[in-house]
Amino acid sequence: MALPKFDVLQPGTVSEACEMLAKYSSEAAVLAGGTDILVNIRKPIIPGHLPRCKGCAPQSLTAGGMEKAPGILVSLSYIPELKGISEGENGEITIGAYTTISEICESVLIRGKLTALAEGGDNLGSPLVRNRGTIGGNICSARPAADCLIPSVALGAEVELVSVEGTRTVPIEEFVIGPGKTVLEPNEILTKVIFESLPSKASSAAIKLANRKALEIAVVNAASVLAVDEKGKIDFARIAMGAVGPVPIVAKKAADFLLGKEPSEEVFDKAGKIAAGECRPITDHRGSALYRVEMVRVLVRRTLKRILNTE
Ligand SMILES: Cc1cc2nc3c(=O)[nH]c(=O)nc-3n(C[C@H](O)[C@H](O)[C@H](O)COP(=O)(O)OP(=O)(O)OC[C@H]3O[C@@H](n4cnc5c(N)ncnc54)[C@H](O)[C@@H]3O)c2cc1C
Repeated sequence: MALPKFDVLQPGTVSEACEMLAKYSSEAAVLAGGTDILVNIRKPIIPGHLPRCKGCAPQSLTAGGMEKAPGILVSLSYIPELKGISEGENGEITIGAYTTISEICESVLIRGKLTALAEGGDNLGSPLVRNRGTIGGNICSARPAADCLIPSVALGAEVELVSVEGTRTVPIEEFVIGPGKTVLEPNEILTKVIFESLPSKASSAAIKLANRKALEIAVVNAASVLAVDEKGKIDFARIAMGAVGPVPIVAKKAADFLLGKEPSEEVFDKAGKIAAGECRPITDHRGSALYRVEMVRVLVRRTLKRILNTE
């Protein structure tokens, strides 16, 4: 595999980057950490590959859903406004799109208030990949198993998208519309990920099941958020599941079931079973659909138990 020829542009502000994307349009793509895009634009020297098993889609000539390798990469690495983590007056947490996975994992604020996101980051790739890869890149890569995307869905994040035409905010649940596909317009940049403040007693957890301990895409991943009121009843619940459908799936029925219940082994087990009924996995070389459904049940139950330290 060899990298095709491309030019790298280095804007210093978001508006400059937007102008470049508008100018070069279909020729250009955004470059963040490059851990996905630089793999996807490599030229294969063999014409595609054979699927290893039924259900494993053959890769196209240019992998990663790209029809044509971009001739221009607009790098985000010199744009200070895309970096860093901050907490607003109302408790909302904003993460710049170019913040690396390592920075997220090391943030005391994220570890304390958005625990599932930090745990999702812990599960991503290897230290080298985490040092380069960014949260914006992870979300825009739109893999149904992306390790920061699934917790962000559970935590109810929103993403800010900017282009020369203006700014819009989209709930992350609606951002990914298929494997590798998002609602991003060709000239838009994801600038920030915003997490509105959760109920004060809410906690979260994320668990990934993979065939290896590192450098592996999830067979299934799950993230949950839970809060218990002063009477000991669950008054807030959200559950997201990855690698069990073409997009991240919100287990709405399972979360609704939890509301008003007292946390217990039986209640969490039942929630896991309901969540298993809400997923739509395929069989591929990582695991069968049947196995994935069973693992959703287990992982959802375990995330809920971990939140209450009863795992
Ligand atoms: C060895 C290896 C192991 C990996 N393991 C995992 C893993 O375990 N879990 C996992 O989830 N991922 C994994 N990945 C995938 C990848 O590292 C992550 O998805 C990473 O977070 C991507 O971020 P990036 O900054 O490198 O994105 P890039 O590669 O720079 O970009 C990815 C895509 O998003 C677009 N993009 C990036 N940022 C923006 C933005 N701000 N606005 C608009 N578009 C944007 C790019 O144009 C490109 O299409 C792995 C990759 C490698 C190479």
